[in-house]
Amino acid sequence: MCQLCVDKSESNLKPMQPARRALLKLASSSPLWMAGLGASTMMVGARADDAHPMPKPENVISPDQALERLMKGNGRYVNGNINTNDSFKSAEAGLKHGQNPYAIILSCADSRVSPELCFDEGPGDLFVNRIAGNFVTTDLLGSIEYGALILKSPLIMVLGHTECGAVKAAMKAEEENTSFPGHIQSISSHLGAAVRAAKQQGGKTSTTDVVKANIKLNVAYLQQSTPIIRKLVQENKLKVVGGMYNLEDGTVSIVS
Ligand SMILES: [Zn+2]
Repeated sequence: MCQLCVDKSESNLKPMQPARRALLKLASSSPLWMAGLGASTMMVGARADDAHPMPKPENVISPDQALERLMKGNGRYVNGNINTNDSFKSAEAGLKHGQNPYAIILSCADSRVSPELCFDEGPGDLFVNRIAGNFVTTDLLGSIEYGALILKSPLIMVLGHTECGAVKAAMKAEEENTSFPGHIQSISSHLGAAVRAAKQQGGKTSTTDVVKANIKLNVAYLQQSTPIIRKLVQENKLKVVGGMYNLEDGTVSIVS
């Protein structure tokens, strides 16, 4: 079990070691990875290089404005009044020189939940990180820190959803003391802390109870555990929130 798992399973959110050095080392040794993430901007800590303007000036907004924009986009999605034209021609030409997404999303990998669609956004707007069960791993944490520190996104949303299969599997494993084949078990093990947290509330535990507990655990972890994110939050440059996507009607509600 990695240190991240140990910290979560003990509900003891300990600060991690600073990750910036590792991030910069990775950037300097991985030109292809850097190119994909706007590498030319990375070495100067900006989101556009000297020869090109900010790709999307409208994405330079405050944390509260970013959350309001996300929720308004979800409203358009639910009501069928979407703005997004997803043809390639509609993408900003400047995006080839860099990116400045206004929100980082940690979403479940579930095929029924698509962040760009449910927030009615296009290329360059959202820095999406996905894993079944929407929980933080060490690798994902590096990606999220990159979005917050280097791309300067002002908002992180942990996005869970109703009827999550990963959560149901973790509940089954916890209740029946069973395990899953291969690496699937690692997902179930990570989500065990959320199952136990939901059960502490008493009464019959539903899937939605565990989904919410998992969102809240990961929001708290992101807010408190890394020096990079914690500092940005303390400086009011970054907000971390939790949202739950409802498969029945497409709405996203804020749960943390
Ligand atoms: Zn899911």
